[in-house]
Amino acid sequence: MVSTTPTRPAGETAAGPLPILSHWIAGRPVEVLPDQTAPVYNPATGQVIARVPRGGSAEVDAAVNAAREAFPAWRDMPLLARSQIFFAYRQLVWEHREELAALITRDHGKTFPDALTEVVRGMETIEFACGAPVHMAGLNTPNVSTNVDAYTLRQPLGVTVGITPFNFPAMVPMWIYPIALAAGNTFILKPSSHTPGATQLQAELWKQAGLPDGVFNVVYGGREAVTALVEHPDVDAIQFVGSTAVGRYVYETGTRSGKRVGAFTSAKNAMVVLPDADMELTADAAVASGYGSAGERCMAQTLVIAVGDAGDRLRPLIEERIAGLKVGPGMDEGVDMGPIYTREHRESVIGWIDKGVEGGAELVVDGRPFVHPTSPDGFFLGVTLFDHVTPEMEIFREEIFGPVLGIVRVATYDQAIALVNGHKYANGTAIFTTDGGAARRFKLEVDVPMIGINVPIPVPAGYLSFSGAKESAIGDLPMRGEDGFRFFTRQKEVTERWPEPGRRETLSLVFPANR
Ligand code: NAD
Repeated sequence: MVSTTPTRPAGETAAGPLPILSHWIAGRPVEVLPDQTAPVYNPATGQVIARVPRGGSAEVDAAVNAAREAFPAWRDMPLLARSQIFFAYRQLVWEHREELAALITRDHGKTFPDALTEVVRGMETIEFACGAPVHMAGLNTPNVSTNVDAYTLRQPLGVTVGITPFNFPAMVPMWIYPIALAAGNTFILKPSSHTPGATQLQAELWKQAGLPDGVFNVVYGGREAVTALVEHPDVDAIQFVGSTAVGRYVYETGTRSGKRVGAFTSAKNAMVVLPDADMELTADAAVASGYGSAGERCMAQTLVIAVGDAGDRLRPLIEERIAGLKVGPGMDEGVDMGPIYTREHRESVIGWIDKGVEGGAELVVDGRPFVHPTSPDGFFLGVTLFDHVTPEMEIFREEIFGPVLGIVRVATYDQAIALVNGHKYANGTAIFTTDGGAARRFKLEVDVPMIGINVPIPVPAGYLSFSGAKESAIGDLPMRGEDGFRFFTRQKEVTERWPEPGRRETLSLVFPANR
């Protein structure tokens, strides 16, 4: 078991010292004083459980310097030697998956089985990155002209950065750093300060796996740390995952100084239900997608667009399932949904429910009054179901990121498509039907990049690309998969001529024709 024990007693509570997490720079924890930290809460109890550093430009400078120094040796390490470290890391993550999951549940609130799946899904990208020798291969085209061959080289960019959100403290970083590192870059992770426990352990596991010091670094903090990273002249590329407002700031600031930036941002996803759908399966899907992880997933389908009489048949089945849901601390046996991750976000979700009511939606199930019987100070909220949500309502247009599901009723398939395609967000969508032809039409017509057919959370497997469009992504390339290797490398096209031995070619000033 890797130690995540306190580095320094803070003495804030009568219950004893709180653990203070450390930045991770050049292969070592960098301790900070308590007055340079922020509290970390366990949302199931409402108690402060640790303190997390609030880094700024000094810590960012130190991390960038460490990463810059480590870059040449890491870049030049043979691909298979790098892969051995990845195989070791993958094995360590697997062995520590329960520990990682428990830290995620503690900081975020999601249920332990959900946190465990998060880790295992994140591992898919680590496993993909183990194959870097293949993914780093370029095209080779012999004989593009007389005695001339051409080929592509892929080379790492240098110092790269991942800025990640609270909601997947292991999986989202694991979507970014394995590919950045496998491509030969060094890396700085700036995770969410709300859910830092799993980050600390990931850094320690890299060390155990044999990653050279300085190749993987962690700086905690908020806007100050992010600004220092996106403005730093020695940072070459950034992938950001989080809200659209912050993503736009990161993209605009980073690209202004010539960095490569990809931002994967907010979402509001809709599943279309046709009247021929298997309604039992669809009700399971809607409830799992809308309320799993307390609705704090960017691929949750929180709008159900029901065509024809689908809404009348689906609603009672959803209500039936809601009645059986158990809300409670994520480590408790049999709990389906944990708390909201912060007190402030709980208030924000309640505000959205108020707006739904004021906007005229029918409140079928109200999660606002829920108080957990044995943990009344936890940031719990019950699940909420609205019906007759319309496109004019704010709860249709805006991301809530909480356990609030809305049914929208339309008469035709074309109206459903128009609503999906007219939305400002475009992350994921789904169709529920037993008609293959309708499903085929949907995937071709819909203007959203990640599509589920009878699949409610269509997050592509970890070795495939993950993208977004409109307000859900800023930048050109998707993340992960082969696109991830494209993002984290610079291509060079080499054109190489080796004349026939002993043959002298005639001088010509004509532009070469390649024929
Ligand atoms: P957030 O934008 O608040 O935070 C993301 C990162 O930016 C964190 O590391 C945070 O510390 C930092 N940050 C926060 N405020 C900042 C500021 N003012 N200036 C600079 N940096 C700042 O997002 P969040 O609340 O942690 O996560 C939820 C959001 O992330 C939702 O909108 C959700 O849809 C989105 N998300 C998107 C995807 C995707 O793949 N598209 C995946 C997960 C989450």
